[in-house]
Amino acid sequence: QPLIRARDLVLNFGQTQALRGISLDVYPGEVLAVMGPSGSGKSTLLHTLAGVLVPDSGTVRIGTRVLGELDQATRDDLRLRECGFVFQSGQLLPDLGALDNVTIPLLLAGVRRREAIDRGRAELDRLGVGQYGARYPAELSGGQAQRVAIARALVTRPRVLFADEPTGALDSLSAETTMVALTDLARADGTAVVLVTHDARTAAYADREIIVRDGRISAGIGVPLVDENP
Ligand code: ADP
Ligand code: ADP
Repeated sequence: QPLIRARDLVLNFGQTQALRGISLDVYPGEVLAVMGPSGSGKSTLLHTLAGVLVPDSGTVRIGTRVLGELDQATRDDLRLRECGFVFQSGQLLPDLGALDNVTIPLLLAGVRRREAIDRGRAELDRLGVGQYGARYPAELSGGQAQRVAIARALVTRPRVLFADEPTGALDSLSAETTMVALTDLARADGTAVVLVTHDARTAAYADREIIVRDGRISAGIGVPLVDENP
């Protein structure tokens, strides 16, 4: 059973046709790379799969729920509980230490402070940055900050991790360490990963790759994109 099932997604920004009919499935524990030139619709696709953008037509199902059938509050709640996000950089709250950044989603989910701190520490350890819990984001290297951001995204054990150019601001060594950590842990947890990147070395960590051009999937590498059974 796919975890994400998207069908015929169409989304326009005024005259700009950002998505022109995209269908794809993403399975639990699978890392899918979305590649393609700038402006081709990758970020729009990611935001649509995450329910941040609502398509003009087409459907996104996450698990058993069809996003378009939920009201906004339910959709936001689903996103908070079941999706993690990692961006290019600058996503950590600058006035909080690394550990406090990682405990935020747990506290928002109602986990008690003591347990949130224990789980946050364990997650930082799992990403190899356990020694930096007290540091502020500005005191971390780009790669360390990115691993803290991944810890924050995975600490709630989301079913899906959305990553938009997660290595875009990193040197190649940090990019490699970051991708190894991200993909190893996501696979261990059974988390599906949708990874937008224009870097082929980053995409090489994925199980499957699609190329988006002008709002359409122009090529797919790996197993079939869409399960033929309805
Ligand atoms: P990519 O991530 O591949 O660079 P995007 O999904 O960001 O591409 O953008 C796809 C197209 O939609 C581009 O032409 C972009 O300029 C346009 N676009 C994206 N977001 C908006 C927006 N909020 N308003 C208007 N146009 C947008
Ligand atoms: P990306 O790295 O995804 O290509 P962009 O720099 O194109 O990012 O876009 C950054 C933000 O600006 C995104 O949130 C996108 O939705 C928005 N955006 C992109 N193009 C436009 C546009 N033509 N008009 C308004 N917003 C846009």
